[in-house]
Amino acid sequence: MSGTSEGPHPAAVAASGTGHPLVTERHAKGRAAAETRDYRAAFQAAHLAMAVLDREGTVVSANDALATLLGTGPGALEEQAAADLVDLASDTRTVHSYREVLRGGRSPFRCTRRLKHADGHTLWAEITVSPLPESGGGLLSVADVSDRRELQARLRHLQMHDPVTRLPNRTLFFERLAAALEDASYDEDGPYRDGPHGDGPYGDGPYGDGPFGGSGGHGLGGTGRIGLCYLDLDGFKAVNDTLGHRTGDRLLAAVAGRLTECADHDGYTRSGGHLVARLGGDEFAILVEDSTGTEQLADLAGSVLTSLQRPFDLAGQRLSVSASIGVVERAAAGTTPTGLMQAADTTLYWAKADGKARWTLFDPERNAHRMTRQALSSTLRPAIERDEFVVQYQPLVGMADGIVRGVEALVRWNHPQFGTLAPNRFIGIAEEDGSIVPLGRWVLRTACRQARQWQRDHPRARPLFVSVNVAVRQVWDSDLVADVAGILAETGLAPHLLQLELTESAVMGSAGRPLQALQALSDMGVRIAIDDFGTGYSNLAYLSRLPVSVLKLDGSFVRGFRYDEGVHPSPADETIVEAMVQLAHRLGLTVTAECVETSGQAARLQRIGCDTGQGWLFSRPVAPERVAEMIAAGPQES
Ligand code: C2E
Ligand code: MG
Ligand code: MG
Repeated sequence: MSGTSEGPHPAAVAASGTGHPLVTERHAKGRAAAETRDYRAAFQAAHLAMAVLDREGTVVSANDALATLLGTGPGALEEQAAADLVDLASDTRTVHSYREVLRGGRSPFRCTRRLKHADGHTLWAEITVSPLPESGGGLLSVADVSDRRELQARLRHLQMHDPVTRLPNRTLFFERLAAALEDASYDEDGPYRDGPHGDGPYGDGPYGDGPFGGSGGHGLGGTGRIGLCYLDLDGFKAVNDTLGHRTGDRLLAAVAGRLTECADHDGYTRSGGHLVARLGGDEFAILVEDSTGTEQLADLAGSVLTSLQRPFDLAGQRLSVSASIGVVERAAAGTTPTGLMQAADTTLYWAKADGKARWTLFDPERNAHRMTRQALSSTLRPAIERDEFVVQYQPLVGMADGIVRGVEALVRWNHPQFGTLAPNRFIGIAEEDGSIVPLGRWVLRTACRQARQWQRDHPRARPLFVSVNVAVRQVWDSDLVADVAGILAETGLAPHLLQLELTESAVMGSAGRPLQALQALSDMGVRIAIDDFGTGYSNLAYLSRLPVSVLKLDGSFVRGFRYDEGVHPSPADETIVEAMVQLAHRLGLTVTAECVETSGQAARLQRIGCDTGQGWLFSRPVAPERVAEMIAAGPQES
C-alpha cells in the first residue's frame, strides 16, 4: 500500500535510466494509472473494512467490507464524519489522539468500540487509524472482534466464577474489592475521572468496558464506606465427611442461593445486589460497597442467619446448617484489601469462638492483641507522660479468715487506639526497650500513694499493704533502692506496708548488685515476694538464704485443684504443693496462692497450709474506689 506514497515505482525509476525520456515518461504514467486502478480494486475487494479519511476525518472513500460491517449501502459512507460512524467522539481523550493522527502524527491510533449495525445488533470492533503522511488524513480500518471478545469474556467468566455455586470466586472478589477501595479513595482526593477506563492509543484493553469489567456506578455520590460479611458454615466438614461431597456441593449451591437472595433484598440500598462470592471451601463473602453504616451490615448478617435457619431439601435429604459471620464496616479511605480481610478473618474467628451460629462485629479493642509490637513500643514512653496507664488492685486474702490483708497493684494501659491493654501485652516490650524503668517507677509511686490514701481515709481499719511487681531490669538498670526510699518518704507510707514481687529469674544467681539491693530493701523493712513460684528452676533452700519473705505459688499449681468441676485432681500435684508449703514454712516464708477461682480450690489450699490467697474467687483486680468499699466493710477498731 505504501508504494503510492513513496514516489515513483522502482520499475519506472529503472526505465528512466535507459530509454528515451519522453517514451519512458509516458510508460511510467500509464503504469502508475494501472497501479492506482489495481490498488482501488484491492481496497474495494479487501476483507478488512477500511476507509480513507481526509485531514478533517471525513470519509473520502470506503470499501464494501466497511459498508457491510456497518450495514449501510455502498457509497453511503462517503462525506460522512468517521468519528460519528465508529464512535470516536464520545470522550475528549479519544478525540484528541484521533485528531493527532489526522494532523500527521506518527503512531497509529487504536481503540475498541461497541458499534451498532444498521439492523440493530451490536458488535465489538477494533478500530485503527493510521496516518497517511503523503496525502494527509488517515486510513481507517475496522475489525469485527465480537467473537474474540465473547470468547475472552466467557473465559474470564470461567476464571472468575466457582463452578459449584456459580458465584464469583476469590479472584473476582478481590478484584472488585480493590476496585471499590480505589474508587472510594479517588472520590476522597477528587482527582480527575473521565470515563471508567483509559483510552489512549492502544489504551483500551479487551475488558475495558466489557460485561464484567469495571465496577461501574460507584464513586460520585458514594458513602465512602465499605462493609463485609465474611461467613463460614458451622460443621460443614461433617456434612462432607458423612454424606459425601455431592451432597456437600449441593448444600453449598443452595446456601449460595440464599445468600444471593439476602444480598439482593437489602433494604438499605435501592440498587441492592451486593457482590456475593465463594472464597473457598465453605467460606463466603458479601461485599457491601457504599455501605451506610454498621446497622446495614448488622441487618444483612442477621437476615443471612435467619435465611439459613430454614432447613435445606437436597435431593430428598433434609439438612440444617448454621453459619458464623464476621462483620466489618469502615471508611474506605485508608483501608486496604488485606487489612479488611484480616479484620474480617479475626472477627469470624471470634464469632466461632463465641459459640458459632452468630454474627460478630469487628471490635478494635478486642483486636488489640494483633497489633504490632512496633506500634506499642514507639508509644510506650510518651504514654507514661500522657497518663494513659492506670493501676488496678487485686485483694490478697487471709485463707483462714477471708479478711483482706493487702492488694497487688496491676497496671493497665488505656490505649487511645487499642483500648484497655493487659500487662501481658506491653510489659515484655517495656522490659526490652527499657521503658519499664520509668513505668515501674510510676506504678510504684501510684500504688504507694494510693495505699497511704486508703490509710488516711480509713484510720480505724487495719492498713492494707500494697504489693508491687518489679521487673528484672528495674533491679539492674536503675537505682531501685533509692527510688523506693524516695517514694516511701514522699508518700509517707510505712516500709512494712510495701511488698515487692520479683520473679525467680530476677533473683536467681543473685550476687553483687541485685543481692545488695534486695538486702538493702529488706533492711529498710520492705518485704520481698517471689512471684510465680514454681515455674522457674530455683530451689527453696537457695531462696531461703536471700532476704525473701513470701512465696507466691504460681497459678498452674492451683489449677490442678479443681475438685468441684468434674476434673480429677492430680494427687501428685497436691503432694508436691503440700511439701513445698511445709518446707517454705520451716524456712520462715509465708505462702500466697495465686489464681484461686473456686471454693473447692480454696478449701484444699487452706488445708495444705497456704497463708493467703489471691484470685477471682475473692475478687478480680478492681479500681481503688472498690478497694475503699472493701476496707469500709471490713473489721474496724473501736
Ligand atoms: P502476676 O504478678 O502473676 O499477677 C497476677 C495475674 O493473674 C494478674 O494478671 C491477675 O489479673 C491474674 N489473676 C488473678 N486472679 C486470677 C484468677 O483467679 N484466675 C486467673 N486466670 N487469673 C487471675 P494481669 O493483671 O494480667 O497481670 C499479668 C502479669 O503482668 C502479672 O502477673 C505481672 O507479672 C505483670 N504485671 C502487672 N502489672 C505490672 C507492673 O506494674 N510491673 C511489672 N513489672 N509487671 C506487671
Ligand atoms: Mg505479681
Ligand atoms: Mg504471679
